[in-house]
Amino acid sequence: MSTTEIHYPATHEVFNQVEPLENYNVFTGNQALRDALKFNAPDLDTSALTALGDKLGSAEYQTHARLANVYTPVLHAHDRFGRRIDQVEFHPSYHALMSLAAESGLHGSPWVDTKNGHIQRAAGFTLFTEMEPSILCPISMTYAVMPALHGNEAIFKDWSPGLSARAYDPELKLFSKKRGLTMGMGMTEKQGGSDLRANTTQATADGSDAWGQRFKLVGHKWFFSAPMCDAFLVLAQSAAGLSCFFIPRVLPDGSLNTIRVQRLKDKLGNKANASSEVEFQGATAWLVGVEGRGVPQILEMGTMTRLDCALGTSGLMRQALAIALNHAQQREAFGKRLIDQPLMRNVLADLALESEAATALSMRLARSFDRKNDAHEQLMGRLLTPIAKFWICKRGAAFAQEAMECLGGNGYVEAGGEGIMARIYREMPLNSIWEGAGNIMALDLLRALRKGDAAAALAHELAPAQGAHPALDRLATALPARVELMATEMEARRLAQDVALAVQAAILYQSAPTAVFSAFCDSRLAGNWGHTFGTLGAAVDFDTILTRAMPR
Ligand SMILES: Cc1cc2nc3c(=O)[nH]c(=O)nc-3n(C[C@H](O)[C@H](O)[C@H](O)COP(=O)(O)OP(=O)(O)OC[C@H]3O[C@@H](n4cnc5c(N)ncnc54)[C@H](O)[C@@H]3O)c2cc1C
Repeated sequence: MSTTEIHYPATHEVFNQVEPLENYNVFTGNQALRDALKFNAPDLDTSALTALGDKLGSAEYQTHARLANVYTPVLHAHDRFGRRIDQVEFHPSYHALMSLAAESGLHGSPWVDTKNGHIQRAAGFTLFTEMEPSILCPISMTYAVMPALHGNEAIFKDWSPGLSARAYDPELKLFSKKRGLTMGMGMTEKQGGSDLRANTTQATADGSDAWGQRFKLVGHKWFFSAPMCDAFLVLAQSAAGLSCFFIPRVLPDGSLNTIRVQRLKDKLGNKANASSEVEFQGATAWLVGVEGRGVPQILEMGTMTRLDCALGTSGLMRQALAIALNHAQQREAFGKRLIDQPLMRNVLADLALESEAATALSMRLARSFDRKNDAHEQLMGRLLTPIAKFWICKRGAAFAQEAMECLGGNGYVEAGGEGIMARIYREMPLNSIWEGAGNIMALDLLRALRKGDAAAALAHELAPAQGAHPALDRLATALPARVELMATEMEARRLAQDVALAVQAAILYQSAPTAVFSAFCDSRLAGNWGHTFGTLGAAVDFDTILTRAMPR
């Protein structure tokens, strides 16, 4: 809230507090992201990202982000006459954020603009996270649903134009009457979310129509984020086993489907997105894909949302780093600005390395989604999805804590939603848990290794950096053999970590200045590092790393 125009009677002068980081361009100020795009998509036209970056850094949208989190969603299970309505009411700022994301094509654009569509959208998604991640939950699920929705071509034909339209239409209406559509997903039940075979929701055959085989669902979902989406993909047990279903909120005859929102989750993390618990009371649903093959069908959606987990955490890291740098540039202690204190320089540079490495890996992964016809890219996409989701999201929480500490006590304070660092800290663990927690990602890596010649693909990926740093050479020489031998479950996290670090280093060699690459390899690969951030060796080129990381 700006109070600079007003003079209040004062008992003391307020000084040495910082001006907030606002009204800046989050894209042009993010050199690491710009270089990652140059490396992965050299011919990408970045003018739309520049325009988006301006809006996302504006005080106006930062205020929307604050208000959407302060005035939290409210569930109205019934109307005032006692009729069931299952509606969630949001603050207008939530809708403003949704509109901007939809108009920017952060959900459906890659399915329409095919050249560089995924990486362009990935960059926009990352930038949006730097402003506010909450509304990206339905945006991400709407993006992710398209491949899986091909499992029912009749529904795909009717719904895909609305799902990829650059419009947000929050009204509860028949899909064909809406300017834009959103979708969510429901897999997790009370008794288990990782082991989906434990799902108990029952699907009973109920004839067929223009959308194919119809079923009635009875059961529940324990996590059902963004319940105001227009439709969902869910898992339920039919006679043939666990199957994937399309379940709209409004049925083709205009009536409300019996998806009952039981309550909203009282959760850590952002407060603006309404995660919920639901029950299906004979809800109407249509089969998507082959009956009994529900898990692989819905995981086509899961793969895309896992990319978004890596992107989202990269964006949050960058936001936390930018706020920490902004603070350290202005705040003084012991006669110097914090940014000039050697130990603070070490902490900030270390965070900058971590942030840039996360951005580099997540953009590298996004590139593979644009090149589905290339065999190497296909293999890397399969390998790097669990690796990026595991490693980047794992690093996020420790990163947020350290960035928060750069602000001292102010970092810990919410101040009616103005304390953005505290909001980032609360949000940070989420991407590590949802869509497959850390162990599940590490185990998925072992599955990915069985697809194609993963060892050769990895060797090919690391080859451009051969000879650039002895520690990277040692790791790159050892990894293909470890991949070939296939780690045991006990070693899966270690393997995921080492592949992530090797790939990050190899990309940084090609996309970042030598100062960044050398400091990353010396610390993360050669052991010249401690157990917390801020333990880089004294020989690091701190000036180059910090100047590069400045948000403006
Ligand atoms: C805010 C939020 C929103 C969410 N939104 C949705 C949503 O919209 N739709 C949806 O379907 N789900 C959603 N989820 C649920 C989320 O995807 C699950 O919580 C997650 O997949 C883990 O499942 P679980 O909670 O049942 O934990 P469990 O499956 O019980 O896992 C607990 C722990 O055990 C570990 N584990 C499990 N199996 C193994 C194994 N074989 N070896 C070693 N370790 C193992 C896991 O890694 C995890 O650390 C959401 C969760 C949150 C927090």
